[in-house]
Amino acid sequence: MPQLVSTVTDLRRAIAALKPARIAMVPTMGALHAGHVSLVAEAKKHADHVVVSIFVNPTQFAPHEDFDAYPRTLESDLARLGDAAAIIFAPTAREMYPDGHATTITVKGPSHGLETDFRPQFFSGVATVVAKILIAASPDVAVFGEKDYQQLLVVQRLARDLALPTSVLGAPTLREADGLAMSSRNAYLSPTERGVAAKLNLILKDVIAAAQKGDLRAAETAGIDALYKAGFEHVDYVAIRDAATLDHIIALEHPARVLAAAKIGKTRLIDNMAIG
Ligand code: AMP
Repeated sequence: MPQLVSTVTDLRRAIAALKPARIAMVPTMGALHAGHVSLVAEAKKHADHVVVSIFVNPTQFAPHEDFDAYPRTLESDLARLGDAAAIIFAPTAREMYPDGHATTITVKGPSHGLETDFRPQFFSGVATVVAKILIAASPDVAVFGEKDYQQLLVVQRLARDLALPTSVLGAPTLREADGLAMSSRNAYLSPTERGVAAKLNLILKDVIAAAQKGDLRAAETAGIDALYKAGFEHVDYVAIRDAATLDHIIALEHPARVLAAAKIGKTRLIDNMAIG
């Protein structure tokens, strides 16, 4: 059975007891699904032991967002992980943000635009908590999902800029049978909304096909129109960007990525795919 720890001191002690074995870390917000489990399996390929953190990080939510409603399912998360993780780190908010906590990490570069245009607080919250977790655990490897592609690039930048001793690896998005990217937030969807949600991945494939004809802006606009027609109530963005930097591009000369965010009812979904 994995060891469940809730303080940074106990986390450090538990990891020290496993050394000199190689350690891989998978940071999560819990409500684990098969996508998270696939990250743990990927992590195990690169290390002897996997540490999973489960922490719904308050600083990455804006006041109007779903922090209180976010599913917290520690018991079933532990059951789902079984023996796949050696250590589970499930701290309290007070442990991660003790009274007087005053340090925030800001990453520029890949944080610019896309999610930041709609969730300005998001990446400083993510970068701060991920930096704290990676500094506490000092793993050899950390695995993040391509599902949150901009986040993956932000964390890779952070790890390089702070010279953390951790290689940050990306792992592919796990999808439901109809192509909907697995997400803890899919639990919010009503049956009707779930039907609409399934169209997001199909529309991204159409955007890729349109982009390959040459006019990237026309492909993005067609994608936005298609999402509204499919029943999304608000489309935050459909954007074709350089896959390495997320810079704007006008032609598919280098590896590119299409990224999208759209809302149905109270639920905001994001997805992305490689182009080419
Ligand atoms: P979260 O708990 O949503 O913060 O996600 C924790 C990690 O799991 C992040 O690195 C996500 O990118 C990753 N993740 C979330 N959904 C998926 C998925 N469908 N497939 C693969 N990884 C995922």
